[in-house]
Amino acid sequence: MSSHTEEETPFDAYREQVDRPLTRLFLEYGRGRLHLFSVGMVANFVARMASLVPPLILGAAIDAVFVDGGGEFSIPVVPNAWLPTGDLEQFWFSVSAIALAFVIVAVFTWIYGVWANLFAHEVMHTVRVDCFAKMQRLDMTFFDDKQTGEVMAVLNNDTQNLERFLDDALMNSARLLVMVGGIAAVMFYLNPQLALITLVAVPAMFAFTVWFMRTVEPRYVRQRAAVGWLNTRLENSLSGMALTKTTNSETYEVGRVREASKRLFDDTMAVLRLSYLYRPGMELLAGIAFAVTFLVGGLWIVTDSAPGPLTGTLSLGDFVTFLFLTQFIVAPLAEVSNIVDQYENAKASSERVFGLMDIPVFVTDPEDPVELESVAGHVEYDGVTFGYGGLSPVGTDSEEERTESEGADSSEPVISDISFVAEPGETVALVGPTGAGKSTILKLLLRLYDVDEPRSSARQTESDDVDEGAVRIDGHDVRDLRLADVRGAIGYVSQDTFLFDGTIADNIRYGRFDAPEEAVETAARAAQAHEFIAELPEGYETRVGERGVKLSGGQRQRIALARTVFQDPEILILDEATSAVDTKTELLIQRSIDHLTEDRTTLAIAHRLSTVRDADQILVLAAGRIVERGTHEELLERGDRYATLWNAQAGSDEVTLDAFTDGGE
Ligand code: ADP
Repeated sequence: MSSHTEEETPFDAYREQVDRPLTRLFLEYGRGRLHLFSVGMVANFVARMASLVPPLILGAAIDAVFVDGGGEFSIPVVPNAWLPTGDLEQFWFSVSAIALAFVIVAVFTWIYGVWANLFAHEVMHTVRVDCFAKMQRLDMTFFDDKQTGEVMAVLNNDTQNLERFLDDALMNSARLLVMVGGIAAVMFYLNPQLALITLVAVPAMFAFTVWFMRTVEPRYVRQRAAVGWLNTRLENSLSGMALTKTTNSETYEVGRVREASKRLFDDTMAVLRLSYLYRPGMELLAGIAFAVTFLVGGLWIVTDSAPGPLTGTLSLGDFVTFLFLTQFIVAPLAEVSNIVDQYENAKASSERVFGLMDIPVFVTDPEDPVELESVAGHVEYDGVTFGYGGLSPVGTDSEEERTESEGADSSEPVISDISFVAEPGETVALVGPTGAGKSTILKLLLRLYDVDEPRSSARQTESDDVDEGAVRIDGHDVRDLRLADVRGAIGYVSQDTFLFDGTIADNIRYGRFDAPEEAVETAARAAQAHEFIAELPEGYETRVGERGVKLSGGQRQRIALARTVFQDPEILILDEATSAVDTKTELLIQRSIDHLTEDRTTLAIAHRLSTVRDADQILVLAAGRIVERGTHEELLERGDRYATLWNAQAGSDEVTLDAFTDGGE
């Protein structure tokens, strides 16, 4: 909130470390598809070469057929013996050859288009899926830094940039080489002297292109910044709609967006004014080349002698071929600026792609995992001290940027020396004020984060790392277990229940997709959800989520509970909702939770009276430490924090145990 600066994220740091990204793109994604690429390239080559045939034939035909007392009918590369001799035959030959050339151009341009795009889009598709798969494996730390927007950009824009580079830019640069090379070769073959004069335009066009790119680049940068600025404004305004309305700030918001939009308009026009200069400029240069060729070649023919220092002869046919080919140079050269642009974009994009791919994942399966066959549900925290490290920055110097307000630093433990044991089937309730570290404790059991002792060799731990201790399930350190085993043994019911876009049945089944249909209903009944589901228009097949029916908080919660019942985990993590629901719903939820916790080891962040009172053990947390522990009765008897709060709350339905303050010391 405090700063608008585009500060470097650790994500950028990985990106900067990517070496030769485009080479890597080719090695990792292009190599297996070289056949597609080669077909595209060859077809491209053939089509472009064929497009040079008509002017050549035309020139040859003029000299041999159309001019009185015409000379020999000859075409570069083709042996004269293959060519017909009579005027009329030569005429028909020329017509057919020109027609055939156009057919070849058409067919091979199609082949080139399809195969080049097959290549490029296959790469894009694979890169996109790989990026997404990588993202699924990334540590939670990555998502804490709220870099999901960045990932979306990688998945959408960057893959598209790569695709454009791989079909357009690569193929256009091949075309550029073929055309300029081919045209120059033909011209020099026909008349080297005139070729020199005509082709002076090529370096001039290159120089003009370089000038253009240098001048337009800063304007592009400004335009891109304006796009980003406008998007941020829009996003921000839309998400703050309620605030805007309630404070009568609509006009103010419109003003701000207008300002951002105007800035984009100005910056875009600055780009367009220049870029619309480019193409006509190139055409003008080609026009000058045409005029000069026309002047010199025309004089040569009209006066029937080489003008100025030139020597030899120029036939009318060659002259016409020259004039045609001069026109052919513009189009491929005019693509140079696009090619360079797409190349730069693709380089930056593949840097981002591989930057994402290279982010190390620390919470992973161990090399030699302990086999966990059946879980009894014994949970133990043994002297656990933990701080959130953040996405470990690779050699960044932006460390001092981290402000106090960010709170947790890797050198700053969020929980300290947490030790307790939950026997199979027991319920342990965690109570304490917000920020005391309750969720953090539970996240460690799920391995959303790992206690990062130096023992995990993969991580370049900072020397001041504070982490210590171990979390164990059935006596095994969770870090020695497979992630799938740990998470498969644990059911997690969070405060904010998330439902995917899909049917209710899909949502209950989520995570165990192969289970039988009937089990869904059984689970829903157990979670007290069957009744309301049955009343929905399409029952279990009713769509929920973004494009489906809206459900109340209590209903969503019961679906989430049904999902957990369905999963049938040995260990349960319960983050009870604080938000009040009506008494009846509360009762229903309570009943389904009671059902759920029965016979399962349960760790609960407790807000509900019954959860706390019936817990086998209550841990009172303050500032990351366990300050009191015991059963409800024991703690009451002790007459300290818990007791004070309990008495203050007595008579109320809900214990707002959050109200504990970090009193004293
Ligand atoms: P509780 O669940 O008791 O409210 P938490 O475990 O959520 O407490 O938070 C404990 C402390 O850890 C807080 O100071 C919070 O700011 C910090 N914290 C929580 N999650 C993160 C995170 N993902 N990254 C960095 N710090 C965090």
